[in-house]
Amino acid sequence: MGYLIAGNWKMNGSIAFAREITAALKAKAAHAPKATVALCPPAPLLAEVAAALKGTPIVLGAQDCHFAEKGAHTGDVSATLLKEIGCRYAIVGHSERRADHGETDALVQRKAAAALRAGLTPIICVGETDAERERGETGAVIARQMRGSVPETATVATCVIAYEPVWAIGTGKTATIADIEPVHAQIQALFAEAGRASAGLAILYGGSVKGSNAAAILACRGVSGALVGGASLDAEDFWRIVTACP
Ligand code: PEP
Repeated sequence: MGYLIAGNWKMNGSIAFAREITAALKAKAAHAPKATVALCPPAPLLAEVAAALKGTPIVLGAQDCHFAEKGAHTGDVSATLLKEIGCRYAIVGHSERRADHGETDALVQRKAAAALRAGLTPIICVGETDAERERGETGAVIARQMRGSVPETATVATCVIAYEPVWAIGTGKTATIADIEPVHAQIQALFAEAGRASAGLAILYGGSVKGSNAAAILACRGVSGALVGGASLDAEDFWRIVTACP
């Protein structure tokens, strides 16, 4: 099973930044990376990045999508349009969207289903907050989010799960092997719960992954890649993560 390293730029970047970083990554990607590498820029930069990545093995992802194919949803972007513009992936249920926009598991599930219908691979994010972790609720939160956010139509071939402990996102705090491995095993078991095959399910880890800690994280049992925020804004550090894939 191949590794996936996805860079989530969040609400960062500009046209000039997109040109600069894609040029740098394009040069690095000339040496056939072992992992699948995806960039998820803000929606207005998708076309720019798509054009810049043409002819490279680096693929494109969106940070969100709407659950409907089209219609009266001001400010939203459909999975169909994201597919047309060249996206392969769509992140759904990122903890920042769950927190900033009140996205529920049910909404995330509808978004993931829309991504699947459009032929995109949803990267469905789950993860507990610091308070939930302190209360010993990690397992319960992951179970609730997995059961509520993964659509029935998802299979190992068509969807990716990202375990992103909220307390580790953008904080510089990284989870240890003891934090990561049991949750990844639980995610795989929960995926199988609905009667699906779960062997080979891609489960990314996300939370302050950077060049200096990537090798240790990517070597964890059950980790098949990383969802990278801050470090994906630096071509050198991002590529260190790509090359750390075992
Ligand atoms: C993320 O945005 O998914 C993320 C993991 O961010 P960071 O790498 O900055 O913690």
